[in-house]
Amino acid sequence: MQPDPYYLFYCKNEACGQTILLPVSMIESSAIIQGFRPTYFSAAAVSCPKCKHVNIHQLPQDGPADDSQSDRRVLLRRDVDYGFLAPLSCGKEFCQTALEVFAPRNRRMTAEEKIADNAIWIWEELRCPSGHVIPKSQKR
Ligand SMILES: [Zn+2]
Ligand SMILES: [Zn+2]
Repeated sequence: MQPDPYYLFYCKNEACGQTILLPVSMIESSAIIQGFRPTYFSAAAVSCPKCKHVNIHQLPQDGPADDSQSDRRVLLRRDVDYGFLAPLSCGKEFCQTALEVFAPRNRRMTAEEKIADNAIWIWEELRCPSGHVIPKSQKR
């Protein structure tokens, strides 16, 4: 089994600090589905599996850094988790910035469990990578 590249994010809620792993391939393929080049995504909204806060994270381009508390890419061998994803639209009219929200999931979760989880996410003030505020009422 070959190791796969993952994004390792640190939850931005300082009281939490949970590490969140999402496969790079998942985020890149979702860019393609949306009709963007994979490199078009510079940031993603990520829902923390522990505290449920949703925050925007820049997608780190480089490998492990010495600073252990910064988002980075890692290579891991693990059962592929997949992420729930939904498009987010920026509140600014005509903003074309690509953005989606991701959350770690596993294959054992039922549809009901996913819906129940989505319902308790805590939406901070989110800004698209271009700096515009994203409205909270995102129902998808
Ligand atoms: Zn958290
Ligand atoms: Zn925007």
